[in-house]
Amino acid sequence: MTGGDFSYLDCNATAPVRSQAADAVARALMETGNPSSVHAAGRAARRLVEQARANVAAIASVPADRVVFTGGGTEANNLALRGTGRKRVAVSAIEHPSVLDVVEGIETIPVTGDGIVDPDALAAMLEGGGPPALVSLMLANNETGVIQPVAEAAALARRHGALVHCDAVQAPGRIALDMVALGVDMLTLSAHKIGGPKGVGALIVGEGVELHPVIRGGGQERGRRSGTENVAGIAGFGAVASLVEGDLSAVGSIAVLRDRLEERLEREIPAARIIGCDAPRLPNTACLALPGISAETQVMALDLDGVAVSAGSACSSGKVKESHVLRAMGLPPDIAGCAIRVSLGPGSTERDIDRFIAAWTAVAARAGIRAA
Ligand code: PLP
Repeated sequence: MTGGDFSYLDCNATAPVRSQAADAVARALMETGNPSSVHAAGRAARRLVEQARANVAAIASVPADRVVFTGGGTEANNLALRGTGRKRVAVSAIEHPSVLDVVEGIETIPVTGDGIVDPDALAAMLEGGGPPALVSLMLANNETGVIQPVAEAAALARRHGALVHCDAVQAPGRIALDMVALGVDMLTLSAHKIGGPKGVGALIVGEGVELHPVIRGGGQERGRRSGTENVAGIAGFGAVASLVEGDLSAVGSIAVLRDRLEERLEREIPAARIIGCDAPRLPNTACLALPGISAETQVMALDLDGVAVSAGSACSSGKVKESHVLRAMGLPPDIAGCAIRVSLGPGSTERDIDRFIAAWTAVAARAGIRAA
């Protein structure tokens, strides 16, 4: 947050912009050239884009020419799902709406009670025949943080001739990311989840994957995404991409904070539910339910106390809906509609955790839920 005294614990929604990104954006805005122009000004802008491309490629350990810059993670997911032309598309039931709501006739793969995609259901779907599929499975869920068995699912899918896309937007800097090791054909990233500017992302496209553009006319990004590149945004993305490796080596201290938060809640508010805690999770994410108290009420009360978190559910136009992720995990409405997400970042402190616990305990107490 800029200004004021605030505990920002909503880094899965968007991470605070890092100074390196802001500096790179400001510098790039002062470059006059269009990266497609052949003169010196154009070449200077092109250099910024290509340096950023190399940095972003390094996040996923791939060569730079695999990166297609887009206007964010949502656009990258749309390009992946619509660009291959595959008629049969199967995605997990817990994907972000930018995967779930993109093509007609999508098949959804169920998840277990722990929030992990059910590999038997995927196998049954693929063995059921039909035209070659496109399978999309996220690397880590944005609401619960639960990490999905992408490499295993991709190996299975590829044995059935399927193409595989992975929405890895929540992964960089939190867990290791290697596109080749995952064995996927396409992978989505978004700058603002790692402290870069909003409205810029990338689809990384594996060698030999045929992809038709969704945005046409101009031929930029090797014909895969037309439109003059968002040079400043891309430069900001590149600047934070180079910080991801350092984040990963420091993520242990974020995990310690998150685990301490959950241990204290278990002791102090026994009625609270920690969702997905038996599965492998992102080290920064806690999905917490206070049964019977709507997520919206909790988020608003916490906000008044200076703590920013999200409802466990997607929140669009300021309206909180029951979480499709938690419903897919089989959780009843008094949990699925009553869960919030606390997501930490490199700047989170012990004080933020104390403040959250004090505020959440007060919310529970006002609803008659006693602290231990
Ligand atoms: N995928 C996941 C898992 C996300 O959490 C988000 C953002 O909330 C997106 C995709 C969309 O990314 P963007 O905000 O860059 O469009």
